[in-house]
Amino acid sequence: MSASGGTDTASFEGKRLLVTGAAGFLGSHLCEKLLLSGGRVIAVDNFITGRKKNLAHLFGDPDFEWIEQDITRPMEIDGKLSGIFHMASPASPVDYAKYPIETLRVGALGAENILALARQRNCPVLIASTSEVYGDPLQHPQTESYWGNVNPIGPRGCYDESKRYQEALAMAYQRVHGVPIRIVRIFNTYGPRMRANDGRVVPNFCLQALRGEPLTVYGDGAQTRSFCYVEDLLNGIVKLFSSPHCEPVNIGNPEEHSILEFATRIISLTGSKSAIVHRPLPVDDPKVRCPDIRKARQLLGWEPVISLDEGLKKTIDYFRREQQAEAGRADEDEAGAPSTDREGSVLKEF
Ligand code: UDP
Repeated sequence: MSASGGTDTASFEGKRLLVTGAAGFLGSHLCEKLLLSGGRVIAVDNFITGRKKNLAHLFGDPDFEWIEQDITRPMEIDGKLSGIFHMASPASPVDYAKYPIETLRVGALGAENILALARQRNCPVLIASTSEVYGDPLQHPQTESYWGNVNPIGPRGCYDESKRYQEALAMAYQRVHGVPIRIVRIFNTYGPRMRANDGRVVPNFCLQALRGEPLTVYGDGAQTRSFCYVEDLLNGIVKLFSSPHCEPVNIGNPEEHSILEFATRIISLTGSKSAIVHRPLPVDDPKVRCPDIRKARQLLGWEPVISLDEGLKKTIDYFRREQQAEAGRADEDEAGAPSTDREGSVLKEF
C-alpha cells in the first residue's frame, strides 16, 4: 500500500457519528472533517478545557447536533449511531495538572460509558490515546510494542495512567464483548485552535515570538519532540477508524526536533526579535519523543505530508489573527462600543 497523508478520501456519507471532546482543538477539527466527508455529527463536551467558539461556525449546520454533557455520567443517544470518536480529556500538561481527578475520571468512567454505548449500539469506537503511555521512554523511537516508562505518582501520572487504563479497558471490551475498537496513540500535534493558555510549547512560543517577549525554553532545551500538523493527524485517525485494526497505532510525525532548535525556528518564521530564556524543566518531562510509524504506514498507508515550516506558518497566522482580534476587541471596549461576539470569531481553517 502506498502511503499518503494530505488528501484523504474516507467517506462518512449516511453515517451518524458521536464525537466526545468535540469542542477541543482536535475534536473540533474532527467534527468539521466528518461533516465535510458527508457524515452527520453529534458533538459532546462539558467545556472544562474545550471552547464553544471552536464549534460556533458549525451550529447552523443541519447535520450537526451538540450536547453539553460530562461523559462520566451515562450517555444516551437517540436514533442511529454509526460510530464513536472518543477524544474527551484534558490533554496539555498544564490542563491535566489543573484537573487531575477529572482527567482520571474521563479515562476511566468516561471511557467505560462510551465503550458500553458502543457495545449496546454495536458500532466501532476510536479511543484517543497518547504518546504519554510511553512516559519518559527508554526505547527510541517508540514502537507500539514498547510498554513504556511511566511514573504513576508524578504530576503527569494522572494523564498517563488514565490513558493506559483506557487502553486496557478498550482491549477488555474488545476481548470480552467483541466491541470493534481502534486505539490511536497521538503524538504532539499542533495547528490552529490550540488554546493560547494551554501551556504547551507551540502556543507559548508562537505567542511569545509575536509579542516580542522572550521564548521560555524549559531546561537546556535538549529534550526532543516530533510535531504533527493537525490535518495530517486527522487523516491518520480517520483511516484508522475505517480500518479493521483493534491494536494501538502511533500517529505522529517522525521528524524529531530539540526544543531549543524549535524555539529558534519559531523566532525565524515569525521574524521576531525575541530572545530565549531558560526556565526550570518540569518534573518528569520526557527527554525524547519520536513515533515509529511503520505500523501506520503498513496497515493504513498513512504518513504525514505537511512540513513543519508549512504547518507552523499556518499556525502562526492563526495566532496572529487571534491577537489582532483581541486587540480590536480591547480598542472597542476602551471606546465604549458594544463588544463583538467572541464565540463567532473563529475562522474556518481547512
Ligand atoms: N516547553 C518549553 N517551553 C514552554 C512550554 C513547553 O520548553 O513554554 C517544553 C516542555 O518542557 C516539553 C516540550 O516543550 O519538553 C513540549 O511540551 P508540551 O507542553 O507542548 O507537551 P508535552 O510533549 O510535554 O506533552
